[in-house]
Parts: sequence; structure tokens; C-alpha cells
Amino acid sequence: MDDENFDVIIIGSGMGGLGAGLKLQSENPKLKTLILEQHNIPGGYVNGFKRKGYYFDSGAEGLVYCGEGQAFRMVLDKFGVDQEYISIDPVETMQFPNRKIIMHANGEKYISELIKNFPNEQDEIRSFFRVIESIQEEFLSVVKGKFDPSFRELIKIVLTCPTLRKYATKSFDYLLTKFITNVELRDILSVYCLWLGVSSKKIKATLAAVVFFSPYYQGHYYPKGGMLAFANNLAKAYTANGGEVRYKTKTKKIIIENGKAVGVQLEDETLIKGKWIVSNSDIQKTTFDLIGEEKLSEKYIEYISGLEKSVTGFAVFLGLDIHLDNYPSHIAYNIKAESYLERIAKGNYNPEEVLIRIPDKIDPSLRNEKGSALTFLTFAPYYLDETWGTSGEKDQKERYTEIKEKYTERLIQIAEKVIPDLSKHIVYKDSATPLTFERYTLNSQGAWYGVRKGQKRPKQQTPIKNLLLAGGNTQGAGVPSCFFSGIKAGERILKKLKKK
Ligand SMILES: Cc1cc2nc3c(=O)[nH]c(=O)nc-3n(C[C@H](O)[C@H](O)[C@H](O)COP(=O)(O)OP(=O)(O)OC[C@H]3O[C@@H](n4cnc5c(N)ncnc54)[C@H](O)[C@@H]3O)c2cc1C
Repeated sequence: MDDENFDVIIIGSGMGGLGAGLKLQSENPKLKTLILEQHNIPGGYVNGFKRKGYYFDSGAEGLVYCGEGQAFRMVLDKFGVDQEYISIDPVETMQFPNRKIIMHANGEKYISELIKNFPNEQDEIRSFFRVIESIQEEFLSVVKGKFDPSFRELIKIVLTCPTLRKYATKSFDYLLTKFITNVELRDILSVYCLWLGVSSKKIKATLAAVVFFSPYYQGHYYPKGGMLAFANNLAKAYTANGGEVRYKTKTKKIIIENGKAVGVQLEDETLIKGKWIVSNSDIQKTTFDLIGEEKLSEKYIEYISGLEKSVTGFAVFLGLDIHLDNYPSHIAYNIKAESYLERIAKGNYNPEEVLIRIPDKIDPSLRNEKGSALTFLTFAPYYLDETWGTSGEKDQKERYTEIKEKYTERLIQIAEKVIPDLSKHIVYKDSATPLTFERYTLNSQGAWYGVRKGQKRPKQQTPIKNLLLAGGNTQGAGVPSCFFSGIKAGERILKKLKKK
């Protein structure tokens, strides 16, 4: 090995990697930590790009608990992350061929909107939201400014929070069907199950109440400058505290001696020593490529091999020659959450719905004078048409492009039901398949949310000594969740270092 020697090496600058780095450096600026990132920018799925003056987010599109004095914001402020947050209101406009529902970032206004659309269900709606509000209030009164409850706080929740306790083991589907009889309304209320890509049956009622319904009570936020600026600001705070990030630097192997991680080997064969390693890389990649099967027990290998990935998707990015000033920033067209998720789980992709995002409607600093930038998001299977034509017999590139174009046009057609004549105003067009997401983040199968929810997730401490995991593969998806998994990894390391 050469001379380079770090206290902690972090593989990947996704939310998990940056959370770990920020925790370590802000608690102990004397530590020598290094983040290795294969891409040329930080953030993983929290990212964006600019083309011909149009700005597009390439993954996450909103943040929860980032209002003044709220849990995630307080942590970011404490780490010195210099970031302004803009309120996203309405949170979403759900548009169907026969109705439109504006999901206001205000509980009472949102409830009124639902009652206006479903007058016969007024009492059911009010009863349902009373439970949601109680769970949220109880949770926030215990954890206060924090986000992740400690063991002591969990005990307090069990002892002092009656509504939370009552629904702690129940699914969100249970809560919905208990109060809401109208199936269409149930679908509308479960729209944010899409945030984790699984049905309301697989999601705890408490998680839905605290996270999915938080935008209506605590607000929903967009980082000024877009997700790219947010990721850059996290990386800036990390380096300002003494950390180092190396971009375009892919880790090839984790070096293990006597069952303990002692460093990494880069793609160009460079060796770097580290007392601790945190992997923010995909769990399968970490296990099979970075560690190597031969270093792990058969039981662990069997468990990791059996883990299913979460959903992935297809995205389209458009630059227009007009401004969409009369449209809201977040539009969900024709989304019927449960049937949509069922179709995708079966591997079908005949899109009839689309999420439309217009970032310059929230943040005027992103405005291009030529016109608006639009992003469409849909879930899509990884193995569609022989993995998007890449394993067929024809020329792969040609077939891949053909499939991409077919679905790009399909999504434009659907979006024209919301924005008439859209196709006449397109001056820039690009798209991302599951393979694009995989290439930019190294998440196997381009998984958007790490390991599929509903399985036993890998523990943060791997079977290898001094090797920890951080990010969506261990903690579960979502920007705050992945970031807090990084913080937890940092905390573990700081504790061990203190003991020495
Ligand atoms: C389309 C989309 C929309 C979303 N919307 C939201 C939203 O609105 N709100 C929200 O909270 N969440 C959202 N999410 C989820 C959220 O973005 C993710 O859960 C979270 O960002 C994942 O963070 P992570 O720590 O798992 O790291 P990842 O984002 O998976 O990043 C891992 C990083 O590690 C790097 N890396 C991997 N292997 C190596 C290696 N060997 N060497 C060097 N570098 C390596 C990768 O390049 C990457 O930068 C969305 C996700 C997607 C895809």
C-alpha cells in the first residue's frame, strides 16, 4: 500500500455518504475522512443537470421536515449547510380526466378540498384525518426537534402516545379501509405510497401519518437552486469542516485483512488505507463486487442474494419555447396508486399516467428565459423488452434508442392531456431509462428506493469488522432517512474512536 492513510473512507456521496461525512467532520474536524465518488458531482439520486439553459432534477424533487425549526433542517443547519428552502404549495395537483384535487400544504385547506370533491364522505374524511393528526402530534411531541427516535423515545412513545400505540403494528391500508369506504378516495389518499414504490398494505400506518402526510401539516420544501445545488451545498459543508471528496473515483475493492476492513482499492489500482470504511454503495455491489463472496458466510450471501430491489423508472426531460406560468409545479396526472403499483409489480409498462414537475414554478432562480423545463416521472420495469433492448439480437444501441423514443413520445402524449399542444413547443428532449439511473448511481437494476420495502433490511454493521453501510439499502429510502443512516454510521465510529 502507498502512503495515503485516512481515519474513515466513505464509498459514495449519496445522502448516506454525505450524512456520515458531515457527522464525522463536524463532531471532530481533526479526523481525516475521505469520500470517494465515481460520478463527477455529489448527491447520488439527489441531483440535477443543466442543458441548453434548462435545469432538471434527475431524482428527488421535494424534502420533508425542512421548515424553520423542523427536524431535518435543524440537523442541516447545525452541520453548516448553507441552503435556502422554498415552500412547495400546492404539494401536488392530482388531475384525472374527470376531476382535479389540489393538495394544499395546509391540513384544513386540503381536507376542505377533499370534502368539496367527495361531499358524501365528509365524516369519514374528518375521522381519518383526526387519526393522522393525532399520530403526527404525538410523535413530534416526543421526538421534538429530532427525527429518528432513540430507544428511550420509542419506549416513551409506547407509554405515552395512545393513537400511535394503537396503530403501531397496523398497515396504512388498515387505517384507510377502517375509515374510508370510497375506493377512489382511498387511492387519492394513498398517492404518496408511490414515494416508496409499494402498496399501502406494505406500509405502516404510523410511517404514512408521520412522513407521507407531513407535507400538509409541516409543509413540503424545495432547495433553492434545485437538488443539484442542495447536494453541492452538503458537500461544501463537509469539505469546509475538513473532509475531502474525490470525484470520478470509483472504488473497486474493499481491502479486508483477518475479517477487518483496512482500506480500499480504486479502479486504477491505487490503494488507500482507512481505519473505518462506510459503504454508501448498493448492497449487492458492496457484497459481491467490493467485499467478495469468499469473505462472507454462505448464510449472509444467501440472504443478500434473496433481497429484491425496489422499483425503478423512466423519466423524460423537456425544454420548451414557452413558459408554463399557469400550471402548478407538481402535477400527478391520472395516478391511481394501487392499480398503478400492481401493474408495475407484474412487469407491465403501458403508461397511462405521469408525474409532471416544473421546477422553475417553485424557484424562479431556475427560470430559463427561453421557456420552461419539464420532467416526467413514471415507474417502469428494469427487464422491459429484454432490459430495454440491450440484450436483444439487433444492434443494441439502435434498439435501445428506439424503445426510449417510443416511451418518450407516449409520455408526451399523456402529458398533452394536461398541457395541450405541448409537443409543438419542445426544443430540447432527453430521457432516462432504468439503465441510465443504474449507470449514474450504480444502484443495481436502477432501483430508485434501495432494497424493496417489506423485507428484512441489511444491518448497518456488516459481517466485516469496521465496515458499515449507509443509505437506502440499510435504512430505507427517502432523503432524510438515508441521510440519518449516514449520521448513525458516523455516530458509531465516533463512539468507538472515543473508547480508544
Ligand atoms: C426519481 C426519484 C425521485 C425521488 N424523489 C424523492 C423525493 O422527492 N423526496 C425524498 O426524500 N426522496 C426521494 N427519492 C429517494 C431518495 O432520493 C433516495 O432514497 C436517496 O437519495 C438515496 O440515497 P443513498 O444514500 O441511498 O445514495 P444513492 O443516491 O444511491 O447514491 C449512492 C452514491 O454512491 C456512489 N457510488 C456507488 N458505488 C460507488 C463506488 N464503487 N465507488 C464510488 N462511488 C460509488 C454513486 O455514484 C452515488 O453517488 C427519489 C428517488 C428517485 C430515484
